[in-house]
Amino acid sequence: MQQIDHVLPWSACGTQRTLRLFRFGSGPRKAYIQASLHADELPGMRVAVELKRRLGELEAQGRLSGVIELVPLANPIGIGQMFQATHQGRFEFNSGKNFNRDFPPLTEALVARLEGQLGSDGAANVATIRRAMAAALAELPAARSELDGLRRVLLQSACDADLVLDLHCDFESVMLLYALPQNWPSLRSLAARLGAEAVLLAEDAGGDAFDEACAVPWLRLREYFPEAEIPLACVATTVELRGMADTGREQCQASAEQILGYLADQGLISGDWPEAPSQCCVATPFAGAQYAYAEHPGVVSYLQPLGAWVSAGDPLFEVIDPLSDRHSVVRASIDGILYARERLRFAQPGLWLAKVAGTTPIRHGRLLTD
Ligand SMILES: [Zn+2]
Repeated sequence: MQQIDHVLPWSACGTQRTLRLFRFGSGPRKAYIQASLHADELPGMRVAVELKRRLGELEAQGRLSGVIELVPLANPIGIGQMFQATHQGRFEFNSGKNFNRDFPPLTEALVARLEGQLGSDGAANVATIRRAMAAALAELPAARSELDGLRRVLLQSACDADLVLDLHCDFESVMLLYALPQNWPSLRSLAARLGAEAVLLAEDAGGDAFDEACAVPWLRLREYFPEAEIPLACVATTVELRGMADTGREQCQASAEQILGYLADQGLISGDWPEAPSQCCVATPFAGAQYAYAEHPGVVSYLQPLGAWVSAGDPLFEVIDPLSDRHSVVRASIDGILYARERLRFAQPGLWLAKVAGTTPIRHGRLLTD
């Protein structure tokens, strides 16, 4: 195992923040796994603890047939953002920006560099494109903030990987994956192993999240250079490892083992692993997800358990104003699975309270909220 430390720029004088990456194994293929980019989403970090331990064992047994890079704490800025005993790990205190948005889009810089460079040899094109990505990132103007520096070092670390797993969680959630529709066939066995209950697919969810920053340039380059042979060389997914409180030891050990089984499917680990289950949930368009909001302030009671299958018209939650007695019931507008619930129980303007995954697109434009 190699330990690689990247010092972030712009730390306050007398302080220093470091992004730490652990590299295991060797070989032509590479997987990159990071956890807790939203620093208060800790199931990923707990799973990464198990992955680090197990990868060390597997490396010692000579069973790693590829490179696996692990960043168990992808957000050294957010991990320390405590405000009066509450952890705020989603938005940077300094800028108010979401840590998982605004990763530098590489496509334009790549197109300029790759004009006339790509041919009919897919493997050669992959190598050329990865060199161009590294060069494009290296030539960006100097980072203008610590957050800017963090985003770059994460993308630099991941962009040459064949496989990228970004481990997150929702407030209260079933196990679920976000991915590009084009990457779904390669991720199906991961979803099956993890027992995912929902998979949400979008080609452009908006906001330049980390997984898309890794995977989307390959799609766009195919469009710019239709005559060249360009494989989708980076399969990336955001894994929502259930809800924020789901850091139980047995559950996280099981998730780590399931991820290792998937890495074995991908040729990165040798030996005998359990077969991926043949059953898997159906993937649905992210645009088909209902985000259910309250109509007024008040205390919230959920009327469905997490993971419930609901039909259009079924009640999701009720909101009661304790002073005026105003009472409302918010219902499912579609058929689907109730895959996530807000953890706050007082309705806030503009904040979703429940999400239902349906099969028919009902939303347009930017799909990700902040
Ligand atoms: Zn997250």
